[in-house]
Amino acid sequence: EYVNISELFNYILDRFDMIIQNDEVTGTDKQYSIDRHITNKSLWVEIDPDKFTQVIDNIMNNAVKYSPDGGIITARLTDTHNHVILSIADQGLGIPRKDLRHVFDRFFRVDKARSRKQGGTGLGLAISKEVVNLLGGQIWVNSTEGKGSTFYIALPYVQFEEDDWDDQVDEG
Ligand code: ATP
Ligand code: MG
Repeated sequence: EYVNISELFNYILDRFDMIIQNDEVTGTDKQYSIDRHITNKSLWVEIDPDKFTQVIDNIMNNAVKYSPDGGIITARLTDTHNHVILSIADQGLGIPRKDLRHVFDRFFRVDKARSRKQGGTGLGLAISKEVVNLLGGQIWVNSTEGKGSTFYIALPYVQFEEDDWDDQVDEG
């Protein structure tokens, strides 16, 4: 199924915002805001929207969970000539350098004691990686301890229209 990735990304973020703001059960009543830099070009990506939604929800959940109250989450979507690049950046705890290559492993959690309080199984990112790979894409992370983390997803896309030279809405 081909989906307009900009529309879908916005839709997922809208929905996430509504659900988590109302979630009194899991105690995620943390304040945060989402700063969006999402291109409004039509970029058609062949993905399963439900699976993709699960991935973004996982990463957004982490961004809120591992950040202090009032953090800003920056969501970006840009394109290269054959890929779309999505990123979700937080201003949270960050991930120690030595742990960076393990965060996509099953059951891996950075600080067992710290993480236990937060709840969770350590499967979110392992599942996300599996799904992204199934969709033909890649997922990776950059992080600085104490400053925050940025998760990236690259997905291949097909150019249906000859809009290659159209004015690019580049929001950086
Ligand atoms: P769950 O299965 O509920 O998602 P989890 O959040 O612990 O549990 P993952 O989402 O797979 O599991 O993340 C693995 C670990 O990576 C986390 O326990 C946390 O230590 C670290 N981590 C993930 N995202 C972030 C983030 N945005 N900032 C800081 N640490 C993170
Ligand atoms: Mg998680």
